[in-house]
Amino acid sequence: MEENVITTEERKKELFYKPAHAAAVMDDEAIAQADSFCEGYKDFLDAAKTEREAVEEAIALARANGFREYEPGAYYPAGSKVYYNNRGKAVVLAVIGALGLGEGARIVAAHIDSPRLDLKPNPLYEDAGEAFFKTHYYGGIKKYQWTAIPLALHGVVVKKDGSAVRVRLGENPEDPKFVITDLLPHLAGEQMKKPLATGVEGEDLNILVGSRPFDRSDAADNIKLHILDLLNRSYGITEADFLSAELEIVPAFSACDIGFDRSMIGAYGQDDRVCAYPALMALLDTEEPEKTGVCVLTDKEEIGSEGNTGLNSDYLRFFIEALARSEGLSGGEVLSRSCCLSADVNAAFDPIYPGVFEKQNVSYINRGVVVTKYTGSRGKGGSSDAGAELLAEVRRLFDDAGVCWQTGELGKVDAGGGGTVARFVAGMNVDVVDVGVPVLSMHAPFEVTAKLDVWAAYKACLAFFA
Ligand code: MN
Ligand code: MN
Repeated sequence: MEENVITTEERKKELFYKPAHAAAVMDDEAIAQADSFCEGYKDFLDAAKTEREAVEEAIALARANGFREYEPGAYYPAGSKVYYNNRGKAVVLAVIGALGLGEGARIVAAHIDSPRLDLKPNPLYEDAGEAFFKTHYYGGIKKYQWTAIPLALHGVVVKKDGSAVRVRLGENPEDPKFVITDLLPHLAGEQMKKPLATGVEGEDLNILVGSRPFDRSDAADNIKLHILDLLNRSYGITEADFLSAELEIVPAFSACDIGFDRSMIGAYGQDDRVCAYPALMALLDTEEPEKTGVCVLTDKEEIGSEGNTGLNSDYLRFFIEALARSEGLSGGEVLSRSCCLSADVNAAFDPIYPGVFEKQNVSYINRGVVVTKYTGSRGKGGSSDAGAELLAEVRRLFDDAGVCWQTGELGKVDAGGGGTVARFVAGMNVDVVDVGVPVLSMHAPFEVTAKLDVWAAYKACLAFFA
């Protein structure tokens, strides 16, 4: 009788878990599809640098794909496509499934706010012949990264009569840009001895906005007056109108390819548009699903999901409850049968800084979408630790659909930590797990992702909604 000989290599293949480079498991056509998908993603990044712009872009894309604004109380039959705009800063989109909501919904939640500098309520001042805006940073930033780079001003000013003025300056080639100056190395001896955390302080993040006086008259505050005069002529606003404004300073550069092989994308705000865009496109490409598909693009994740446009508010629950009621179901029944991918980024291993990562559990660029069982810090604190049963389902779902995926843990135990919207979704009694794209230089003004991972995120969401 012949013995069945298994080589050591074969036995390893059978028993070891080893995620591969996405390019090694994709054919030429799939790689070309991934690259072409990322062209649309780069356009989205440039068009949607703030949460308000992301909502507008998402709704425009959705409307072009047959979505209509949700009408409270209306009954939506299977196949209906609706969206709910929450105050212009968050949006929920849904495709009603053949089973309605009786079997629960399939929810993908991503956030569309990113770290940035917000103008203070009274921002404008003049000092030593220069005019500045004072800022208060939003989200976790390394302050020194925001000096000496071109910046743009985006946002809205709402005047006392309720009329809104949109601002978007610094994005077109002919637009002026803004900057935070930094000290020259020749005089930075003392500054350079400071730790990175305090080398540039929060109150030093002042935006240079002008230097010529009104009427060319060299009197006190005439440079400030000149800026206000220009703003008044362009936007019809006065200094008091800053009090009712949301003006955000973001990097002025646009998304581009990175590397000789063009395998990566460099851009501002990829945390978390790199998940928001694939999630949105996947829902737009979902026709007649079994279960109702829901895509939430939320605000305020970077400051703890607080406020009524963040997922710690009840807006998603209210939306799903309203859909449930129209089918004669209770919101609680529907939510407890629902499942959610909390689509947020994870930190990719960076070989320049290997010390903070644990090589066996960290995610790597180009190994596909990252499934993160838990986040949190100091012993999973603040995390929604996804159940083994849910992870088994996700493994099956992704493997059956040929989704390239890997696991990930943010960094070494006790190296730091972070959280996502997962715990707020879990708070609604929904099964939820974090699934997202690995990012290099996360939260920097210019973040890096790999194109094949962006594509994997799209394929993962598509399989989830199908
Ligand atoms: Mn994020
Ligand atoms: Mn973040």
